[in-house]
Order: sequence, then C-alpha cells, then structure tokens
Amino acid sequence: MHDRGYYDRFGGAYLPEILVATFEELETVFDAAKADPAFWAEYEALMSNYSCRPTPLTFAENLSAHFGGARIYVKREDLNHTGAHKANNVMGQGLLVKRMGKKRVIAETGAGQHGVATATMAAKFGFECTIYMGEVDVERQRPNVFWMERLGAQVVPVKDGTRILKDAINEAFRDWVTNMDSTHYVLGTACGPHPFPTLVTYFQSIIGKEARRQVLEAEGQLPKRVYACVGGGSNAMGIFSGFLDDPEVELVGVEAGGEGLDTTRHAARLASSDASIGVAQGYKTYFLQDEDGQMRETHSVAAGLDYVGVSPILAHLKESGRVRFEAATDAEVKDALATAMRREGLIPALESSHAFAQAFAEAGSLSRDDVIIINQSGRGDKDIFTVADAFGDPAWKRFIRRKAEQYGA
Ligand SMILES: *Cc1c(COP(=O)(O)O)cnc(C)c1O
Repeated sequence: MHDRGYYDRFGGAYLPEILVATFEELETVFDAAKADPAFWAEYEALMSNYSCRPTPLTFAENLSAHFGGARIYVKREDLNHTGAHKANNVMGQGLLVKRMGKKRVIAETGAGQHGVATATMAAKFGFECTIYMGEVDVERQRPNVFWMERLGAQVVPVKDGTRILKDAINEAFRDWVTNMDSTHYVLGTACGPHPFPTLVTYFQSIIGKEARRQVLEAEGQLPKRVYACVGGGSNAMGIFSGFLDDPEVELVGVEAGGEGLDTTRHAARLASSDASIGVAQGYKTYFLQDEDGQMRETHSVAAGLDYVGVSPILAHLKESGRVRFEAATDAEVKDALATAMRREGLIPALESSHAFAQAFAEAGSLSRDDVIIINQSGRGDKDIFTVADAFGDPAWKRFIRRKAEQYGA
C-alpha cells in the first residue's frame, strides 16, 4: 500500500535535513521490533499488566433494544490506564525508546490527554520528560497540567503564534533538533512524518485485533459496521485495522461537525468539502486551510477532535472508498452522550460520543441480525466542566462560584 511512507498520494516525510538521520534511526528500530515476534508479545504482556488489556467488548443490551435495530457492541478503550486508547501508543513507543537506549522523551499536547499519557509512561520507564503545550491550552487545561507535573514532567508553555497545539508541535520539533541523541519525540496520533502514521497505527492495532476476535467469539459473525471518532485518526486506525481485509465490514469514521458543516466552526476534514490537500508539519494530507495555505481555526466541543490535519492513511482510505466519513455536530454529540449514560451507564468521552452519535443515527435502520461496534476511545470524566456547562447544571454553577470565592478569584 505504501512506499517509503506514502499512502498513495498522502503521507511522506518532509523533514529538515538535520532530522533525517533521527527518523532513519527510529524507522530501523521500529522495523526490527516489528520483525521480532518477541516484541509484540512483550507489548501485549505490558499492556495486560499495566493497562487492563484486553479491554472488553461490551454488549449494549439496553441501547440495542432502545434503537430496535442492530445489536450494538462497545469496545471499551475507556478502561485503559489514564482513561483512553492513548496508553496503547505511548507505552509502545516507550518500549522503542528503551530499544534505542534513549533516556528522555518529549511530546506536544493540546487538551493535555496525550501529555498525561506520555508523562505516565515516562514515570513508569524512568525517562526524563518535557511536554510542550500552547500557553492558551495551559490556562484552559489546568487539571491535566497539574497531573503531568505531579507525574514528574516539565510542562513548557509555548508563547509563539496563537499559543495552541500547532505551536506546541513546532516547539517540540525545535527541541528534538537540538537533543536528537538523547531524546525521542512521542508523537500522539497517526499523523506527522513517516514512520509515525504507520508506527502509531501498529500499536493501536491491538484494539482491532482484540475486537475482531471478541466479536467472532460473541456472535460468530463479523460486524456489519464499525464506528470510530476521528481526530488525528489513531483510535480509528486502531480498530479499523482489525477489519480492513474484510470487505463486508463497513468502516465509518466520524469527525467533529461542531456547529454544522454549513458554518466554518467545525473540524471535518474528510466529511466536508472544505479541506484541501497540502503539506504541513512534515506530511501531506487534507488540511482545513485557506487559499494561501494558512491553517483555519477549527471548532469542536471535543478538544481531542479539534485539529486541522488528519492521518494520511485515512485520507488514502477515503479516496479508495474503503472508509466512509461522516460528521456529528456538538448538539448531536450531547444527545448521544446523554443516551449512552442514561440507557447503558456508559460515560464516553466527548470525542468518543461522536462515534456513538453516528451509530445511534443508523442503528434503527439495520436488522436485528446485524452487529455493529462502536469504539469508545476514552472515558468522559475529564469532560466534567464542558458537559456540566452544556447541560446548564445550576448546582454545578453554584459549586464553581463557591470555589472561586474560596480562592478569591
Ligand atoms: C485524543 C483522543 C481522541 C482523538 O485522537 P485520535 O488520534 O483521532 O484517536 C479521541 N478520543 C479520545 C478519548 C481522545 O483522548
């Protein structure tokens, strides 16, 4: 499918000369690990010992009855340590860092989830850890900054540009150029220059491997459709890769529809016609950009889906027709979250709730013999501030006001 990091016309590695050797080193170590059967076994053992794997494939009996169509299963990535599929990627890269003999890791983070996961991995493996985060995000995501620091990471607020995720990425690359010999850059999703899209997908494929085995065990048949939300694309690539070679399984990626695709306030790169092909941050894919190649502002109620680029592998799978892309709006996501909580006792992250929203919209029109799987990429506890706001909870508002007075804000 790909040649030196290209997925048809997407991907590649557009790198400054100085980083080429470091990327080659990473690719060599990764290729050797992949070719070593003991490596995957070591990875699986680590994840079962440290992060509750294999995660269950839960039959959502009440939701299935409620929508009256397909039998709905939920892959429970929310049960990972630190609450999301991000653990799969960071722990895998941690094993590669050990193989490279490096002692320091750096990462970029927007909402802070990838930062917390990386800081956790660094504490577990005994690596030094620096997390780059836009100054605006440092202010917005205080709880995650607090946890990263308690875990021993140094959090560096980035003051350049618009002081958000893309500026943090630039700063992390700058650090890497200076400290290549000692440092590995733990990229957080299936984006960026080759080999990151392949490498992150490789570790996340543990989701799809398990899900395929589990659904065959439970139902004796493959699912008709598999739904996953798409930010950078790593949880989607993870579960999709278990079914890519089963043409009868339809794969559905759900992006952030924000305030609607008829507005500019969304982050739908593949489900809308607003994005165009470009090269940025070292790789070629669909970006939400203006005619001069300036990145547009994106919007989503879910911070983890609020990104201008998307995995080059997913861009390719869209063009080849293997994956269907949809978008769920903030309002639809809020309804889906309420239904998942009230009917099944699940608390999906706002990101994951996008996959739930699309699956809920389609489940009723499928037959009772059909099976569908929703990837619950993470748990919603982290979203308490946003969700309480969205539902306009008056007792919560009083609580926040009292805390503000207590701290003299
Ligand atoms: C980070 C995150 C996402 C988005 O990242 P992908 O790489 O697209 O998977 C989705 N869900 C949760 C819970 C996240 O934390």
